[in-house]
Amino acid sequence: MAEQKRDYYEVLGVEKNADDAAIKKAYRVLAKKYHPDMNPGDAEAEKKFKEASEAYAVLSDPEKRRQYDQFGHAAFEGGAGGAGGFDFSGMDFSDIFGDIFGDFFGGGRSRGRGNGPQKGANLRTSIRISFEEAVFGCEKEIELNVKEECKTCHGTGAKPGTSAVTCSKCGGKGQVVFTQQSFFGTVRNVQTCPDCNGTGKVIKDKCADCHGTGYVPMRKKYAVDIPAGIDNGQCKRMTGLGEPGINGGPRGDVLVEVIVARHPIFQRQDYDIYSTVPMSFAVAALGGDIIIDTVDGKVVYEVKPGTATDTRIRLKGKGVPTLRNKDIRGDHYVTLVVQVPDKLSHEAKELLKQFDEQSGDTLNEAARVSAASKDEAKDSKDKKKKFWK
Ligand SMILES: [Zn+2]
Ligand SMILES: [Zn+2]
Repeated sequence: MAEQKRDYYEVLGVEKNADDAAIKKAYRVLAKKYHPDMNPGDAEAEKKFKEASEAYAVLSDPEKRRQYDQFGHAAFEGGAGGAGGFDFSGMDFSDIFGDIFGDFFGGGRSRGRGNGPQKGANLRTSIRISFEEAVFGCEKEIELNVKEECKTCHGTGAKPGTSAVTCSKCGGKGQVVFTQQSFFGTVRNVQTCPDCNGTGKVIKDKCADCHGTGYVPMRKKYAVDIPAGIDNGQCKRMTGLGEPGINGGPRGDVLVEVIVARHPIFQRQDYDIYSTVPMSFAVAALGGDIIIDTVDGKVVYEVKPGTATDTRIRLKGKGVPTLRNKDIRGDHYVTLVVQVPDKLSHEAKELLKQFDEQSGDTLNEAARVSAASKDEAKDSKDKKKKFWK
C-alpha cells in the first residue's frame, strides 16, 4: 500500500472554496517550482510536481472536483490506472501544458504559428461628424501612421546587395518543436521559431533605412467615404490599409469609428428622428399651419383645430436613410407642444380675460368654489349647533 495521499487542496495550498483562477494560480507556482526541466534528476521535485499536477487535474475539472469533494480520494480509486495510481487517461493535458507552460518556452501566445502568409493587424481610428453628415453621408479625410514598403530594400529588410538567409534554427520552417518527456508521456510543443519570429529567414546585414523590418512608418492621408445612415459608434472598414501582412499575407484593415455630434433639436433612434415643435395656443385651438424643421429643410404642416399639447405626428420618410438602401428612410416624429405666453401686452391680457369669461370663467372659478365651501362649512356648523342643543 502506498503512503497516505495528501488532500488535493492542501497540496495546492488553497482553500476548499477556492475558485478556478486561484487553483490555476496555485498550480502554476508549484508547477514552475517543481517542474522536472527546472530540477533535473531531483526525484523529490518530480514527486511534488506529479502530486501537484494530479491535484490540479482533479480540482480544475468541475465534475471531478465535485466527486472529490464528495468521496475524497476514493472517488478515483480502482480505476484503469491500476496499482492505486491516478488515472490520467482521457484528460487533455496538452491544454493544461499549453496554457500553463506556454511561457516556459518563450512562445507566448503565438504558439503553433507557422511561416505561412498572415493578414496584417487592423488599425483603429475615429472621426467626428455632424448629425446631418451622418444622415446623408459625407466624405472625410483621415491621417494615419502607416507602414509603407521600404524603398531602399524593397521590403526585404536586407541591406542592398545582400539577401536574407534561411534560418538555421528552424531550417526555414518558422516553427520549432520542443519535446518534453514527462510522466504523462511525450508532450510536443510547437512554437514560433524565436530566431526568425516565424518567417523562416534571418537577415544578416540589415537595411539601414528600415532597420531590417522592410517597412518605414509614414503619415498618409486617406479619403473616407461615410455612407448615409451611419450611426454613432459604427465603424467604416477600409480594407487593406492596415498593418502589412506577414510572409506575403494581405494587409489588415483600418476601422474608422464614427462619432456623431449631438444635434440641438433632432434626436435619433435607429432610423427615426424625434423633435419637439412649439405651437401657439391659437393654432392649437383654431388649427393652422406651422413650420417644422426636418433634415430635408422646412416643412409646412397643417395643425387640426383642437389639437392637444404633446400630440405626436409622423412625417413619413423624413427620417434617416437606411445603410442598405438610402432611398428607404425612417420617419420623423414631431411632438407638438402648446406654448404658454409669458409676456403679454395690456390689450392682449384684456382680450384673454374676455375670452376666459366667454369660455367658462376659469379665472374666477377658485374664488367661487372657496366661497361656496365657506357657505357649506357655515351651514354644517349651524346644523351641528342645532344637533347639540
Ligand atoms: Zn529597408
Ligand atoms: Zn527560424
